[in-house]
Amino acid sequence: MRVRHKPWAKSLLRQHSEIVIASPKFYSGEWYEVFGREAPLHVEIGTGKGQFIVGMAKKHPEFDFIGIELHESIIVSALQKCLEANVSNVRLINADARRLTEYFAEDEVDEIYLNFCDPWPKHRHEKRRLTYSTFLAQYEYVLKNQGVVNFKTDNQGLFEYSLESFSNYGFTLRNISLDLHHSDFKENVMTEYEEKFSSKGQRIYRCEAVCND
Ligand code: SAM
Repeated sequence: MRVRHKPWAKSLLRQHSEIVIASPKFYSGEWYEVFGREAPLHVEIGTGKGQFIVGMAKKHPEFDFIGIELHESIIVSALQKCLEANVSNVRLINADARRLTEYFAEDEVDEIYLNFCDPWPKHRHEKRRLTYSTFLAQYEYVLKNQGVVNFKTDNQGLFEYSLESFSNYGFTLRNISLDLHHSDFKENVMTEYEEKFSSKGQRIYRCEAVCND
């Protein structure tokens, strides 16, 4: 994603510390305190501009959602969507998901969403893919037994790689779709990238990987 610098982003993020959590490590194992209730915890990695997480939060008020996004000039758009939608069940973390296990305790998370993450097609960049084994080890750690990684992409190569990577790691694959928008999956909430790619006629791939630990 091309990142357009927004010099005002940092200050808006700071003004809304009730949504953008500045010290996520502090809440590891105790995110229920932030939300003021004990509800299933769903985490989106690479939230982007927030359309998916806000859509999911509106659709599922019974769950709590946390979005992690690296760039402040991007996550600020997610913050604006949270404010407009006035949702109480979303929090945002402006940080690197490579440090996931610092933000969440073992077995704390019910579901993870990876939506249209960067494919890093060159072999020498394999370790950067969010479905590389070192990331899967972190997902396994924070997910409960039978917790789920929900994965969507438009990139066939990344999808095939990820199916193999999940399977090799010991996740159980289910609900594999090679053309999500022409499948019988009715629960889909579209992301910004998904709208862009599908409007160009590109197919969307989806799967669920279940953690067995
Ligand atoms: N999920 C959104 C969507 O589908 O519209 C955005 C997709 S965009 C291709 C990938 C996003 O992941 C970017 O906003 C990028 O900044 C973020 N990202 C990439 N690596 C990340 C990391 N290690 N930690 C947190 N966010 C990351």
